[in-house]
Amino acid sequence: MIFFVQSENNSDIGNLKRLSHYVKLFNTFSLVKNYVDFIRKEGRDQERAADLIRRLGPDVVKEAVTDKLEEVFETEPFQCETKQKSKTKGTILRIRATNGEVSSRQVRKIADISEKYGLGFVHFSLRGAPEIPGIDWKDIEIIRNELKGVGLSILDKGIDNLQACFGGYCDNGIFDAQALLCKIEKIVERLGVNNQNIKISASGCPNSCGISHLSDIGLIGVVEPGLDREKCNGCSVCIRACRVNAIEIDNKLAVIDLQKCKNCGKCIKTCPFEALYEKRKGISILVGGQGPHFMYDGQTGKTRLAEKIIDFISDEHALKITEWILKLLKEKSKNGANFIEEIGLESFKDMVVKKMGMKKEFKTFSLIDRAE
Ligand code: SF4
Ligand code: SF4
Ligand code: SF4
Repeated sequence: MIFFVQSENNSDIGNLKRLSHYVKLFNTFSLVKNYVDFIRKEGRDQERAADLIRRLGPDVVKEAVTDKLEEVFETEPFQCETKQKSKTKGTILRIRATNGEVSSRQVRKIADISEKYGLGFVHFSLRGAPEIPGIDWKDIEIIRNELKGVGLSILDKGIDNLQACFGGYCDNGIFDAQALLCKIEKIVERLGVNNQNIKISASGCPNSCGISHLSDIGLIGVVEPGLDREKCNGCSVCIRACRVNAIEIDNKLAVIDLQKCKNCGKCIKTCPFEALYEKRKGISILVGGQGPHFMYDGQTGKTRLAEKIIDFISDEHALKITEWILKLLKEKSKNGANFIEEIGLESFKDMVVKKMGMKKEFKTFSLIDRAE
């Protein structure tokens, strides 16, 4: 077993830090306990592993979580009684649920299908797709029709579930991630991009709950704060809101380091005097993210975090660029991560720039030189 603590899911800063190699299952309990003890003792409000590693440094966190790993943890390892333990014949049926959303009626149908044709339970994948194990291939077409009756379809192959965070409902949401993904789904259907295992995700803010950094195409809501110097009185409330320490007070005025700023907009919402405002707001597009499997050369590769190619664009422009990327991938019969791994990000960007150059409305747009 390999144990990871995520240090940063934002490709701007970091990478995944492998804290301990091949930790035995037995030692994993100790390692997790160490981590929980450490975050209780040293962690600040809402801090996660990424924040801890950034604030204290990977060596300090590593030392704490790997402390006394050989000691016997008081709870003996136990057998996890999941239903998946009962290995049976049959296939796992995956259902597309854009944004991880299914209506009550659809949930009932999925439950009925699971009872009638499967093992009587449903698993929801990380990308929000309901999965029914234990399905016999001979029943697939009947099930397909039953699902169609409630507006659902089988994820046969190709484009994975279109995944979004809860951005439209979440207080942190900078744009309506679900609404955008529904529009992208229509593009996907129109283009018929079916066989390339492309993953598309949207997140309403840079917290990236929609796992946009591990997708071929990731969309993230961003906002750049601006300061109204007349209204700012140096009260420091915004400093506490900023998790990346991008704000300082100088001469009773807030000063924002835009190099450090992750464009989450929290400080704007927090300022009691409305001294901070949304100077720029929009969507970032990231490309080329992938989990540690299915690398283009057939090897099990390292995790590939998606890199940002453009910032602060409108919903409309994000849709157009997404469509070009999908057309390009369709033409090359590749997914985004594999294609970028093969030709390099700069060449990929050249192709996007070429497309932008042909459209008048994109004449003034420029791609990000290189993700910092
Ligand atoms: S990514 Fe941001 S907007 Fe989306 S659910 Fe997470 S915190 Fe909320
Ligand atoms: S919270 Fe508002 S008023 Fe207070 S320092 Fe920050 S920007 Fe200025
Ligand atoms: S938007 Fe504000 S709170 Fe968010 S990272 Fe930037 S300075 Fe910090």
